Amino acid sequence: MRPRFFTIGHNSAYNSGMPEIQMISVGLFDEGSCKTCGTSKRNPSGDLTVTVGPSEEARSWPDIIACGDYPCFVVSGRAVEEWRSEDIGSLFIGGKVLFTGPLPERLQGHEPPKYFWLDGRRMLGAQLDFDASGFAGAWVCSTCGCCAYDVGATYDRQRAGACPYVFVEETWNGTNLFTTDLSPAMFFCTDAVVECARKHRLTNFRFTPVEAGGASWSQGIDYLGKQWPPYSSLRPSEGKTINQWVEQLRNPSQRYKARVALLDLGKDAAPMVPSLISMLHDNDEAVRREAALLLSALEKMGVPLGAEGEAAARQHEEWFQKTIGR
Ligand SMILES: [Zn+2]
Repeated sequence: MRPRFFTIGHNSAYNSGMPEIQMISVGLFDEGSCKTCGTSKRNPSGDLTVTVGPSEEARSWPDIIACGDYPCFVVSGRAVEEWRSEDIGSLFIGGKVLFTGPLPERLQGHEPPKYFWLDGRRMLGAQLDFDASGFAGAWVCSTCGCCAYDVGATYDRQRAGACPYVFVEETWNGTNLFTTDLSPAMFFCTDAVVECARKHRLTNFRFTPVEAGGASWSQGIDYLGKQWPPYSSLRPSEGKTINQWVEQLRNPSQRYKARVALLDLGKDAAPMVPSLISMLHDNDEAVRREAALLLSALEKMGVPLGAEGEAAARQHEEWFQKTIGR
């Protein structure tokens, strides 16, 4: 049976208290530019020496750690051991990851566990169907294997609707943890890896189903939670009604999520116009501003707003251009 596929990475944007690698001071090598495509090459090789960014929050060592500077896939020795014990297989270890310099205050006295980086260049496991995955004008350099695409046109295509990650038929080589020709730093996995992470309580992973594409709005599936198999939405608007999302706009900590969900509905969110117009009279300025923002977005999608809605949308646009736009 064909497994389910996920993207796999760290979840430090959603998990507070995670340290992050700030800089790789030893182990990144400048290899000049590719003669064919001109991409400049900076690649990790062998053991890496890294520094951790200052953080008052960081208080435990995760099983996958975010890596700035160059997006290395850095995992704990425990994760590597458990993957091996569960026959996840085909892991190519690029080298050890060694820490230097001061550690965040609350991590001092907690010796870092062993960490390793996986070499995605040697873990190619499938070819991405670039067109079906929403990338416009993509091509892979025949000299260096680097992938380039039209960033602007791709952004427009992906904004118009969620694009899944699709592999070219028959190109998946059967490995559980792999990269594609999209990037050696972007990893994919099968459900076997997700189940292993759950079974051994590996921390700070973010898994999203490939059907949801990049899904930057999502904190990934709740693989450590009680419910198994966990529910995972493929679109930001899933799981609540329009009215519930609109109500959630009043809650500051939930507001952004609600906005993303409502924008995801596009023209289907038209029934919320009357609620938004009444929110223009709310006591809370942030709620008024949010309502105007959404009205402005709906107007751009061609949803009729009526006179009051249109005026609020115009006002918002003027405010936006003055303060944020250029
Ligand atoms: Zn090239």
